[in-house]
Parts: sequence; structure tokens; C-alpha cells
Amino acid sequence: MASWCENCDRPVEGDTCDVCGQSVTEPAREPMPWRWRFFIVVTIIYLIWRLYQLISWLTH
Ligand SMILES: [Zn+2]
Repeated sequence: MASWCENCDRPVEGDTCDVCGQSVTEPAREPMPWRWRFFIVVTIIYLIWRLYQLISWLTH
């Protein structure tokens, strides 16, 4: 599986980029923290609520 060199912006075969010589490591693929999911859900609910208020204010 090819890694990605951030310096050259190109895929790299192996552990070291053969253009700039920098060692490339696999990007860490951590799952999204639950706090972020909670924050996103709360933000979406808040935006829907504000939109609802705005619409009801405009139509009255
Ligand atoms: Zn490179």
C-alpha cells in the first residue's frame, strides 16, 4: 500500500520518499471521538432550531 509524501504531494512506495528523502508514515486513522460527534449533533440541532425561529419570525 502506497503512503503519501506531504512535502512532494505525491504517493510514495515504501517507507522513504525517493524525491525528498523524508520518511513517510501511514496516516493515523483514529475513529472520530464521540465528543466531536456529540458537538456536531448539538450544532446541527441548534442551527435547525434557529432556522425554525427565523422562519416563524418571518411568517408572523
Ligand atoms: Zn517527498
